Amino acid sequence: MSAEPHRYRITPSDPGAHLFEVTLSIAEPNPDGQVVSLPAWIPGSYLVRDFARNVVAIRAQAGDRELELTKVDKSSWQAEPCHEPITVTCEIFAYDLSVRGAHLDTTHAYFNGPCVFLQVVGQEGRVCDVELCPPPKPIGSDWRVATSMRARDAERYGFGHYYADNYDELIDHPVEIGSLLIGEFEAGGVPHAVAVRGHARVDMARVCQDLTTLCEQHIELLGAPRDLDRYLFLLLVLPEGYGGLEHRWSSSLVCSRGDLPVRGESGMKNTYRKFLRLCSHEYFHLWNVKRMKPERFTPYDLRAETHTGLLWVFEGITSYYDSLQVMRSGLITRASYLELLGMTVTRVIRARGRFRQSVEESSFDAWTKFYKPDVNTSNAVVSYYTKGSLIALSLDLTIRRDTEGRHSLDEVMRECWERFGETGEGMPERGLESIAQSVSGLDLREFFERYVRGKGDLPLQKLLKDFGIVMRLRPQDGSDDYGGKPSSAEREPPPWVGMGVSAKSGRDVVTVVHSDGPAEHAGIAPGDELVSLNDVRVTAENMDTRLREYHAGDRVTFRVFRYDGLLSFKVRLAEPPEDTCWLQFDETRTEEVEQRQSTWLRQ
Ligand SMILES: [Zn+2]
Repeated sequence: MSAEPHRYRITPSDPGAHLFEVTLSIAEPNPDGQVVSLPAWIPGSYLVRDFARNVVAIRAQAGDRELELTKVDKSSWQAEPCHEPITVTCEIFAYDLSVRGAHLDTTHAYFNGPCVFLQVVGQEGRVCDVELCPPPKPIGSDWRVATSMRARDAERYGFGHYYADNYDELIDHPVEIGSLLIGEFEAGGVPHAVAVRGHARVDMARVCQDLTTLCEQHIELLGAPRDLDRYLFLLLVLPEGYGGLEHRWSSSLVCSRGDLPVRGESGMKNTYRKFLRLCSHEYFHLWNVKRMKPERFTPYDLRAETHTGLLWVFEGITSYYDSLQVMRSGLITRASYLELLGMTVTRVIRARGRFRQSVEESSFDAWTKFYKPDVNTSNAVVSYYTKGSLIALSLDLTIRRDTEGRHSLDEVMRECWERFGETGEGMPERGLESIAQSVSGLDLREFFERYVRGKGDLPLQKLLKDFGIVMRLRPQDGSDDYGGKPSSAEREPPPWVGMGVSAKSGRDVVTVVHSDGPAEHAGIAPGDELVSLNDVRVTAENMDTRLREYHAGDRVTFRVFRYDGLLSFKVRLAEPPEDTCWLQFDETRTEEVEQRQSTWLRQ
């Protein structure tokens, strides 16, 4: 006889107070005193969040009898020894509107499993039954349920009984409950759905059509995993927002209202391109990190930080493929793809943290550095997303060029998938490196030593040239210049002062001071409130215009408030660094180069 499942019931019991009531019935608790706990972090987001902090009440019972429940650490409780089935009931505060949290109010309910479902320690392998209950009437009369969890006894998109094979799967199905717009489509023979909350005017037919093309492109690259029998994009639309979190059968996304096409709108606006990239990114993760994982995540230890030097593989390579696959599927042009690449190069070369940290170190320290950004982040931390994606690009181009087109990163990823994904084995810390070497037959040790474990800048100019693309660098021509394009001819780049300024609640505050720049040499510090430039008021908004009145080499005086004291700094303005990249197709490319380029960018 198979073991009795754990039975969970979750009710948005008090939407006004943002409280879920969650009960868990354990049929055969550990007779020595069952321990239950909540995870400290959620897979995919490498920060200790201590979800147990939102438990506002918890109690345990055996039948009608109250059991003593002792808190044993920040996330765990132990029930008194008991030989009968027990039920643990908790109230959980949910007011975090992010893809990693839980949120409940009178307009909807959203949760991730790690925020609400207690783990039955020692019995994680059991089936988990989940009853999703509606909120108290009259709230939620038009609410529907969107989740990739399988229904046992529930109507499509309805409340009722769902289940997961074990705890690990249970917490991999975010749930959105509210007034939803739902579109359905099929890709690679697998049923897919998009559930949108917060936008009634979205052109769902177009979104479904574009996602079909995109998902098929991904399935063609790595093949549909055997257990991929459904997939759901959960999308929350906010006035301003952006982000996503990957799961095996779904992803949770947040975008801005203006990102989505409305009915009757055509053309590819940059914001919709960004949205498609986000979908592409999270979808690629269903292979890369959700099924093929670092060995250190096999299985996850959700009690504390788990360090791996491989996040650049799982986020960087995913970032490389997110835009590449949007382009390969024909949704954006090659020129548009080059613009995106140019913007990524710009982001990487503007942050001097790349001279302080390798992507392997950045991956390892993600928990305390990348995920805890502060005023020094751009000077001290390299992004394993952006630099990781340029490593993927360089590795791909190196393999393609040096094997005369016989091998590619696509093939390396397919081999990794077979080796570590389909088997569920977990990728060792040097796993990608050894597969890249064996697939390509190249000696790539120096490549990994220099760019992955080292802090070297990638040889992009040369590599791109060999693929018919000219990489150009120029100074930033204003604080709204993110690269990817030639400079706009109308304006001169302002001289360089080496600091970033933002307007915050009516004050213009220095947010970042670039290491080894003029502002740092003069003594200006993050947090200083900007007052004047040569005795004339200067703000975040007019800073570029004001600076254009001067030239590199000029000495100017900035006045700032630090705390409540007025300070004055003499700054020697410098030549703006060439830290802005744009790419163009090489008109003089040979036929051989042309051939190389089309195999790489094939549409
Ligand atoms: Zn990602």
